[in-house]
Amino acid sequence: MRTAARRSISIIILALVMFLLSAENSIQAFPFTTVYIVRPNRFYHRRSCLVVRNSGRPIAISVANAREQGFYPCLRCTPPTW
Ligand SMILES: [Zn+2]
Repeated sequence: MRTAARRSISIIILALVMFLLSAENSIQAFPFTTVYIVRPNRFYHRRSCLVVRNSGRPIAISVANAREQGFYPCLRCTPPTW
């Protein structure tokens, strides 16, 4: 009885952790996620990308906006595609 209760608690905790992890992923894929472009390149990047960090003036833009303007996701930092 006690063991069963403990097991179901750990299953609930596991489910909660998985839910939180997937929630974090969906936030990253949110259409209004901010990405960064560095002119004159035609790629957009995550903030953590080396290209952005090495640039003096990265421009913050939403993913939807970047794609609308013809920017492609960076191959190094693989930013969200939508
Ligand atoms: Zn990048």
